[in-house]
Amino acid sequence: MLACRIHAKDDLRVESQEMPAAGPGEVLLKLGAGGICGSDMHYFFEGRNGSFVVREPLIPGHEASGTVAEIGPGVTRVAVGDKVAISPSHACGSCRFCRQGREQLCEAMRFLGSASVFPHVQGMFRDYFVMAERQCYPVEADVSLGELAFAEPLAVALHAVNRGGGLLGKSVLITGAGTIGCLTVLAARLAGAASVAVSDILDRPLAQAKLVGADVTLHASRDAEALTRPRFDVAYEVSGSLVALKTCVAAVKRGGTVVQVGTLPAEPLPFVVNDLMAKELDLRGAFRWGIEFDWAVDYLSSHRVDVRPLLSGQYRLTDAVDAFHAAADKNRSTKVQLVAS
Ligand code: ZN
Repeated sequence: MLACRIHAKDDLRVESQEMPAAGPGEVLLKLGAGGICGSDMHYFFEGRNGSFVVREPLIPGHEASGTVAEIGPGVTRVAVGDKVAISPSHACGSCRFCRQGREQLCEAMRFLGSASVFPHVQGMFRDYFVMAERQCYPVEADVSLGELAFAEPLAVALHAVNRGGGLLGKSVLITGAGTIGCLTVLAARLAGAASVAVSDILDRPLAQAKLVGADVTLHASRDAEALTRPRFDVAYEVSGSLVALKTCVAAVKRGGTVVQVGTLPAEPLPFVVNDLMAKELDLRGAFRWGIEFDWAVDYLSSHRVDVRPLLSGQYRLTDAVDAFHAAADKNRSTKVQLVAS
C-alpha cells in the first residue's frame, strides 16, 4: 500500500508502507476520498502550519471517507464493506471539556494529520489506515464517498454558525469564499439567515459562493466601500486574514457578533480593539467542532446539504503532488480530493 509523506517543505513523497492491522475495538479502512485542506497545504508548501512544524515525515489528511476492509475483535458499530464518514478527532472523552460536550477543547486531543504533537499524529492520505470504532460513521444512504469526505469541513462550518448564535432573520457576512466559506453559506441558510453576503479577493471563489446560495457577493477591493458600511448582524471571518477581520469589525452593526473561524498568522497582530468596545461587539472563536460532526453526516446523507458543486477534482495518491498544486490554485479549484492508488 502507498502513503503520502511530507518530509519537509516542498518534499512530499508517495512511499510504500506495510499494511496495518485492526486491533481490538479498531477498524481497518480503505481510503474512499480525502479532501486537501488549508492546513495540509501549509505543511506541504511551508513545512509548517502556524506554530506546528514538521519534525518527522508526516502523512497529512484529516477529512476523509472510507470503506471498512477489516474489523478488530469486539467491533459492532460497522461491518466489512460499510461506507463510512471518518471523524479525525481523538478526544480523550474524560477531561473537563469533553465531559461538557466541547471535545474540540479537549486537553489531551490528538487530531489526525497534525504536527501539533511529537511524534506526529499521522493522517489519512494513504491507501489503508486504522481508526477507533467510534470514529467511524456508517452510512447506508446513496451518497458518494467524495461527498462523505465533506463531513469534516461541513462540521467546521456548522460549528462556526453555532458559535455565532441564532441566525433566524439575521443578515450575515462571510469573509472568504473557499471551501469553508461556501460551506458556511450553506450552514447559515440552514440556520435561517435572512440574507448571506460573501466577500473574497478572487472572482472564482465568489462565483462558487453564489452557486451554493449566497445572496450577495462582494469583491474585497472593487466593493471595498460597501464592505465598510455597518449593516450585518453577524460576520464570520473564514479567510484567516487580518484585513478581513478588520472588515468584519467594521461591517457589523452596533451590538453585532464576529466569529473568527480562519487561522491568522502566528505573529502578534495589531488590532483595533476600540471598535469592539464602542460598538459592544462580541468577538468569538470557533475551533473545529463537537457534536456538529454527527449533524454533518446526517445532512450529507439526507442530501439536505449538497456539496457537489464544491468538489473540483479527484486525484490518485500517486498524483498527490499535482493534487496539492491544483488545490492551491484558487482560480482553478475549490475542494480537491485524493483517492486510493
Ligand atoms: Zn478530553
